[in-house]
Amino acid sequence: NEEQFKKVLSHAKEYGYVFQSSEIYDGLSAVYDYAQNGVELKKNIRDYWWKAMVQMNDNIVGIDSAIFMHPTVWKASGHVDAFNDPLIDNKDSKKRYRADVLIEDYCAKIEAKIDKEIKKAAKRFGDAFNEQEFVSTNARVLGYKEKIDSILTRMGKSLQAEDLADVKALIEELEIACPISGSRNWTDVKQFNLMFGTKLGASADSAMDLYLRPETAQGIFVNFLNVQKTGRMKIPFGIAQTGKAFRNEIVARQFIFRMREFEQMEMQFFIKPGTQADWFEYWKEHRMKWHTSLGLGEENYRFHDHEKLAHYADAATDIEFNFPFGFKELEGIHSRTDFDLKQHEEFSGKKLQYFDHEDNESYTPYVLETSIGLDRMFLAVFSNALQDEVLEDGSTRTVLKLPAVLAPTKAAILPLVKKDEGLVKLSKDIIDDLKWDFNVVYDEKDAVGRRYRRQDANGTPFCITVDGESLEDNTVTIRHRDTMEQQRVKIEDLKSIIKKEVDV
Ligand code: ATP
Repeated sequence: NEEQFKKVLSHAKEYGYVFQSSEIYDGLSAVYDYAQNGVELKKNIRDYWWKAMVQMNDNIVGIDSAIFMHPTVWKASGHVDAFNDPLIDNKDSKKRYRADVLIEDYCAKIEAKIDKEIKKAAKRFGDAFNEQEFVSTNARVLGYKEKIDSILTRMGKSLQAEDLADVKALIEELEIACPISGSRNWTDVKQFNLMFGTKLGASADSAMDLYLRPETAQGIFVNFLNVQKTGRMKIPFGIAQTGKAFRNEIVARQFIFRMREFEQMEMQFFIKPGTQADWFEYWKEHRMKWHTSLGLGEENYRFHDHEKLAHYADAATDIEFNFPFGFKELEGIHSRTDFDLKQHEEFSGKKLQYFDHEDNESYTPYVLETSIGLDRMFLAVFSNALQDEVLEDGSTRTVLKLPAVLAPTKAAILPLVKKDEGLVKLSKDIIDDLKWDFNVVYDEKDAVGRRYRRQDANGTPFCITVDGESLEDNTVTIRHRDTMEQQRVKIEDLKSIIKKEVDV
């Protein structure tokens, strides 16, 4: 739904949610800045996650580890050797592609072509047309499908040299069947490491090569024993963290869905070996409940269980969300076994074991991970909330139906007449009272109807209008964004009315 996606982009800019980074210099690709409203929405999503994970679970604590880490961390974690994307260049157009993404684009094109052929055949054969039969007897279609599936399952982080040649061959074949590049002249497929490098230290000789962390998880693993000991944590327990991560993504598109600098919200849950299957189910269910509690519609989520697992995992699933460009990964839930802690034991030479007093034994814990991108969550919430609504009188209104708990501004206070000193003073008094509990704004410009629309588009759940009557009886009109219902309420009740909606 390209149209909707375009609207999301322009609305995010126009209403001060997301700006392109360094825009006056024509921007930096796949890097974005959060603007005055965006920063509040992002903070509220982060807080909503933190509350659910850390505050509500007495066996989960948080940390905030540094972005820079000892370079050996990334050798131990496997990122130096295996955190790669397969790239291919077209020699004529000089364009560079991520091979797996390119194959997916060919798939989409071929599927569209097949769809067209099906429609054509249906028209030609009328009632006698059987779609399933048509597709299954169409050898060409099936031939591609099998090849594509087999290559895509071999792709991911552990492509072997012989796979790379197969990937190239498939791309060559697909380009002939359904051109994207316009030229058939490809380089070999190369593996490209996604980590950004930098240097620590002043002189060129003594400087140490560092990486900007590509995930927050390793900061948790290396602190496992420190937290366990100082917090006297008993297994099962979790460590949560939110923070920036950096990946030199090749395909920079889809707005804040895929960024080069982004934020993750991760939790590593340390468990006894053998209990991982139960905890995997537990966290799948809990994370899905967290998502659906926001009211974006249960039909917009689905699990995608991985058949092909990364070398460190014994089970993995994605929670996918229905973005404007289709269902895509929003969160990953991975059963990582003892891979990470064992690797860090080996590379650091330090024991990272837990002594279980009940069983009187030491072991390296297994780990269950939940990992969600804060920016992707932002996009999910924002794109789902943005709606054009046709009203009873035939006019349309643009409304950003953000969950009240996440909305950047909870209420706008509007004096009916901006020149009336009494109304302005009472409005400011109301703000001075409410601002201790909520983000509120004052808005006096334009007719009140236009101000309502502006706040609707901004996602503000409540508008509070102060009029002549307010000065006499201390009541105001409160208007609800989603229903547009208006109520006359006492000023002293405002706080509890708003609280009821915005509290979790
Ligand atoms: P993808 O397949 O989309 O590249 P991934 O499987 O590499 O994602 P993980 O390494 O599992 O992602 O990271 C966990 C979460 O971090 C993802 O579910 C996603 O929400 C978020 N994330 C990963 N890469 C990016 C990125 N480049 N920009 C924004 N968010 C990201």
